[in-house]
Amino acid sequence: MLDPTSPGAVRDLLQRHGFRIKKNLGQNFLIDGNIINKIIIAAELNSTDTVVEIGPGVGALTTRLAQKAERVIAIEIDRTVLPLLAETLDGLDNVTLVEADALKTDINRLVQDQTGTLAGGYKVVANLPYYITTPLIMHLLERHTAAQRIVVMVQEEVARRLCASPGTKDYGALTVTANYYAVVKTAFKVPRTVFLPRPEVDSAVVSMTVRKSPAVDVVNEQVFFALVRAAFQQRRKTLLNALVSMDKGLSRDRWLDILQQAGINPVRRGETLNLQEFARLADAYANLR
Ligand code: SAM
Repeated sequence: MLDPTSPGAVRDLLQRHGFRIKKNLGQNFLIDGNIINKIIIAAELNSTDTVVEIGPGVGALTTRLAQKAERVIAIEIDRTVLPLLAETLDGLDNVTLVEADALKTDINRLVQDQTGTLAGGYKVVANLPYYITTPLIMHLLERHTAAQRIVVMVQEEVARRLCASPGTKDYGALTVTANYYAVVKTAFKVPRTVFLPRPEVDSAVVSMTVRKSPAVDVVNEQVFFALVRAAFQQRRKTLLNALVSMDKGLSRDRWLDILQQAGINPVRRGETLNLQEFARLADAYANLR
């Protein structure tokens, strides 16, 4: 069986198929079995798991996932990679390949259609295409409540943003959203040398354990996320000024009342608020506006 983690075997496979790597699709293939083992360990897979992989590429991660889990559903946008995958996945009968754009895929429904149930949940494990890392993470967290755990390789800078503390430059709407839905941890760092071709940045594997209910209770989720966006869109402004420009229908004094009710100093910058403070602010706004 072809070893899709061996650099020589991958080069040979690409050459035999005359495959041209598409940088615009974020095609950086993993060619290091140790890193793949570490991803498998971080995913804490067991033999009854359904795993969704985004972007199987030539199958380096897919083959190992298929050996550990009950079933793998792999979503790949590039149809020209499918003949190569057919070779590396030869003999594995628990992998379903779906040719689609993961960003436009309702993954809950896909799992339901393929397995007949969502009751056991599923895990997402992927070496993400870097040109759409943030939208893919948002898509997974916001729409796919049946996902239990998401273990993904991302650019190191995105891993820092996902795990950042309030008040730091990496802290932003992505941090708040991810931590609202999941317990987020950086599992380990990955040097750029383990990919073919080499990307321009180092990477990290992040593990997100999806919470059964969000980290904070809010009266109105839309209001919560609108305030989060407003706070980070204008990072240099005080919270009061950022809020006044977000909802011009409310007077400055009204905003001061809302901030007072939430117990938040109006001269703070929005980027210093933690999740609980954003939640208090959202509830005070929902009550008093
Ligand atoms: N899993 C392989 C590995 O680890 O070697 C390949 C990872 S490579 C970083 C990203 C893969 O995602 C590529 O195969 C690429 O074609 C695919 N891809 C890019 N955009 C996609 C999208 N919107 N939906 C699904 N797959 C996508």
